[in-house]
Amino acid sequence: MKKFRESMYTLIVETSTNLPNDVRRAIVKAKEQENAGTTAALALGTISKNISMADYNVSPICQDTGMPTFEIKVPVGANQIEMKKAILDAIEKATKNGNLRPNSVDSLTGENSGNNLGPGTPIIHFEQWEKDEIDVRLILKGGGCENKNIQYSLPTEIEGLGRAGRDLDGIRKCILHSVYQAQGQGCSAGFIGVGIGGDRISSYSLAKEQLFRSVDDVNVNENLRKLEEYVMEHANQLGIGTMGFGGEATLLGCKIGALNRLPASFFVSVAYNCWAFRRLGVTLDSTTGEIKEWLYQDGDKIDFSQDKSEVTNQENKGREVVLQAPITEEQIRDLKVGDVVILNGTIHTGRDAIHHHLVEHDAPIDLNGQVIYHCGPVMLKDENGEWHVKAAGPTTSIREEPYQGDVMKKFGIRAVIGKGGMGPKTLKALQEHGGVYLNAIGGAAQYYADCIKKVEGVDLLEFGIPEAMWHLRVEGFAAIVTMDSHGNSLHADVDKTSLEKLSQFKEKVFK
Ligand code: SF4
Repeated sequence: MKKFRESMYTLIVETSTNLPNDVRRAIVKAKEQENAGTTAALALGTISKNISMADYNVSPICQDTGMPTFEIKVPVGANQIEMKKAILDAIEKATKNGNLRPNSVDSLTGENSGNNLGPGTPIIHFEQWEKDEIDVRLILKGGGCENKNIQYSLPTEIEGLGRAGRDLDGIRKCILHSVYQAQGQGCSAGFIGVGIGGDRISSYSLAKEQLFRSVDDVNVNENLRKLEEYVMEHANQLGIGTMGFGGEATLLGCKIGALNRLPASFFVSVAYNCWAFRRLGVTLDSTTGEIKEWLYQDGDKIDFSQDKSEVTNQENKGREVVLQAPITEEQIRDLKVGDVVILNGTIHTGRDAIHHHLVEHDAPIDLNGQVIYHCGPVMLKDENGEWHVKAAGPTTSIREEPYQGDVMKKFGIRAVIGKGGMGPKTLKALQEHGGVYLNAIGGAAQYYADCIKKVEGVDLLEFGIPEAMWHLRVEGFAAIVTMDSHGNSLHADVDKTSLEKLSQFKEKVFK
């Protein structure tokens, strides 16, 4: 069991830090599709750089290391109780070493268990098979993309597409709509797994299972193969692009499975996964627990450190404005959507718990003119008691929509950094108060960690590491203005144009 435990630890670390070969190939394809010099191409350049930094640092590709989900096939007679214990040990060790962020939170008290263990965490499914070896597959699916999963119950009315009936046409409408509704909030360009049929639970399970298929495989069911190709072709015409900045590459993979259903039910479930598609697998010798083979790693490994597209795109990007925090209202009102801001100075993390707290309490520091970063970093404390950042990309901002405008006005905050954009309430507040929304590249946790030169302190650590307010000194932190103080929102524009394109499919394709 000792060797099995080591093998599970290796699998967890590799999955968190080393993107599989099939996913790397899909990202290269997206870069080839994208037009050079666009904001989407700039984002893909940052993503490539981040992948190579994670390779080099052996650190998490994205700070949200998600819900660890293991799918395990074992020979008859394998001791599943001991295997489960070994996996829990490996999870705890990977969390302690900063390869996983502590992500297991008590749903009633909000308390973080600190070691990624707790009721329902991690998810482990065992199945017996007739082979002698053990097959273990792991996916680390983050919350941003998990929140964009969606389930349809047919027949239903679909925004932009009208009625979706209990037929192939209705299924197509659901799947294309699922990509539209995700916009950039699940860190597009993404991958989807789709489950057709089953009951509510098995339909969602089937959708998630599809994410364990290789990006390059071909569906053996001819009807589903055609459906997958249809979705890939049409979803990439929606113009959502990387991070929802608009562009050619929106969907990098679509895998569909089907189950029988009850005559009275018809579910279509979609599991959305971000570009940081961290799933790997191993086969193990069932006697020794040693790794025999890595899965999803066939073909050449693309080394993104050789990639020069970031440089090319840097040369073509829009106006660049260097700002030092704290920032004045005048500086903020000068910014327009499309500007690239290079931030220096101290920024402060704040996500769900902090925003909820700030609505009713004073801030632990003076936030006037300051910058809030929607980020739940991976942090490690050294033997001298000093904190270090292991990974620190942006989290999905839309969750703070109910609070953001009020919090900015109450404390005089001038800029918010996050990803995926915010809604009309925040846009109105940016206009009235003189604020700006800066979109950082979702998942680029190593790229942004590198910009953090010092951890100056932390407040409200009782909310747990991801939810605390970290005070971080940054240099050269680059983000794109996607919502400005003049009422402009790139997110609202892309949403509108992609909905128009979706509606056009109704006339052209679904007749
Ligand atoms: S890349 Fe984006 S959606 Fe994926 S885990 Fe990271 S923050 Fe979440």
